[in-house]
Amino acid sequence: MNQFKQQRERMVARDLAGRGIHDEAVLDAFRAVPREEFVAEDYAHLAYQDSPLPIENGQTISQPYIVALMTEALELKPDDRVLEIGTGSGYAAAILAEIAQDVYTIERHKTLADTARSRLKKLGYNNVHVLQGDGTLGWPEQAPFDAIVVTAGGPDVPQNLKQQLAIGGRLVIPVGKSLQTQELLRVRRVSENETIEEDLGAVRFVPLVGEQGWADESAILPSK
Ligand code: SAM
Repeated sequence: MNQFKQQRERMVARDLAGRGIHDEAVLDAFRAVPREEFVAEDYAHLAYQDSPLPIENGQTISQPYIVALMTEALELKPDDRVLEIGTGSGYAAAILAEIAQDVYTIERHKTLADTARSRLKKLGYNNVHVLQGDGTLGWPEQAPFDAIVVTAGGPDVPQNLKQQLAIGGRLVIPVGKSLQTQELLRVRRVSENETIEEDLGAVRFVPLVGEQGWADESAILPSK
């Protein structure tokens, strides 16, 4: 346990602060969340390497630096309500829940959603709400959101997500016409009808599959 705590501190200093993440609330969140609890036991010893790791359903828990970059880009405040698309392991949801008031997170794979829900509950994250479904449609019943983060890459910014942003809200999403690489965009809703987009750099994510994302995994991924 103590050994993981040391590894966690080292990761925060070397891979996050050392690479330019400076929001103290973000760094504190990474100091608090035990990443080893979000991967299979076989991968626990790799939990504090700054790399993605495999989880069920052919998906990944994202690289800590990228999670930190995206979280910092959301400019979270303690009373913010956040929507995450792509719960995966639940790790990024826990990071967000350390900083913001409530986190609503949607995962399309039922096994992942169920596992993340019980894991987050066990770890005491009572401010995270997990839904199984197509996150490209957002969560209209809980909108508007101060911040929305999409942890899978889509061909465009889903219109529903833009519409579910509060005025002043920030949406961070990887967007790219190819599956190989995307640009990380921050979309800021500045008024009812106006958004401003910034490009935060190149990233690589698993595909966002849904009504306002890629059509179907089998059509876009090479067959084995
Ligand atoms: N945030 C996750 C974590 O901390 O472990 C990493 C997520 S992984 C890179 C991306 C996730 O997005 C996958 O679990 C995938 O199943 C999910 N996903 C893809 N398309 C989705 C959609 N339309 N709605 C909800 N989840 C989706």
